Amino acid sequence: MDTNSRQTDYVRVESIKKFFHTSKGSLFSRKERKAVKAVNDVSFTIKKGEIFSIVGESGCGKTTLGRVLLRLLEPTAGSIRFDGINLLDLKKEEMRLMRNRVQIIFQDPYSSLNPRMTVKELIKAPLDVFQRNLSEKEKLEKVFSIMEKVGLNPEFIEKYPHEFSGGQMQRIVIARALIVNPEFIICDEPVSALDVSVRAQVLNLLKDLQQEMGLTLVFISHDLSVVRFLCDRVAVMYLGNIVELGDKEDIFNNQLHPYTESLFSAIPVPDPDVRVERIPLEGDVPSPYDPPQGCSFHTRCKYAEECCKTIKPELRDIGNGHLVACHLRLPEQILNKENGND
Ligand code: SF4
Repeated sequence: MDTNSRQTDYVRVESIKKFFHTSKGSLFSRKERKAVKAVNDVSFTIKKGEIFSIVGESGCGKTTLGRVLLRLLEPTAGSIRFDGINLLDLKKEEMRLMRNRVQIIFQDPYSSLNPRMTVKELIKAPLDVFQRNLSEKEKLEKVFSIMEKVGLNPEFIEKYPHEFSGGQMQRIVIARALIVNPEFIICDEPVSALDVSVRAQVLNLLKDLQQEMGLTLVFISHDLSVVRFLCDRVAVMYLGNIVELGDKEDIFNNQLHPYTESLFSAIPVPDPDVRVERIPLEGDVPSPYDPPQGCSFHTRCKYAEECCKTIKPELRDIGNGHLVACHLRLPEQILNKENGND
């Protein structure tokens, strides 16, 4: 990547690793310390105003990565630059101020809202922590204004979470994230706990707010239909690694990595006349305690060759910002060049 493109990257994540060190086995064999490699050497960039999606099966590391990006979990290694600032260099007080610019929306509104707090207290709480210089009157004005923006009736301000539907509760969660006027938001499966009937409302709300406020979003999801509706670019994760990354249209129409191919073949098509060939995944996801050598997908890949068992494929740009980590699924020109047939 050249210097010029580095300057235009709004978020730049380089070689991020997050390992959890745990004791494995019974109480009597606690000496055996193992590392779960939840995120293992992940790099990507996000442009300002973009909706960048991270997809993959449960346990692939996408939620851990989202938390690491905001330092809710400290990474084991790597760097995270946001608007030119390395977040990992920030001290506690500097990071507290940074949380005015970076926020997160959690998956489950039922567990992210304290049932003993009113809507006013819940939405105002971030201002009490991150914008202490504001008066109570100014804070209240902001609460009313953001409630209006997310479609919550201001008359509900003294109500408690249990008095709301799931969709309204997620609007409270969104209002609470937006009240500090952030620029960059991690949305961790923000609609997966909601009824299908209200998902579309919340997704439309997020899309409208993103455009209106010029937000940059990371959208973590396992629901590919939602990703297709909302996102600009997609990164596919498997066992803590990104295996494919590209523009939404490239990823949805021209999957190169065998894992992406299987994952996307499972998307339901709402047309009885269209037949889509499902490509089922073979075997189970390997243990993250002991991920396979070489390509981490080789134990389930029907195309695997000998080299896949020993050599880890790099994530390579094959053109137009479409990246893939596979020894075999590269365009012919690249494969010919590597085999000396050029
Ligand atoms: Fe399959 Fe080999 Fe490609 Fe891995 S590198 S996805 S095992 S073909």
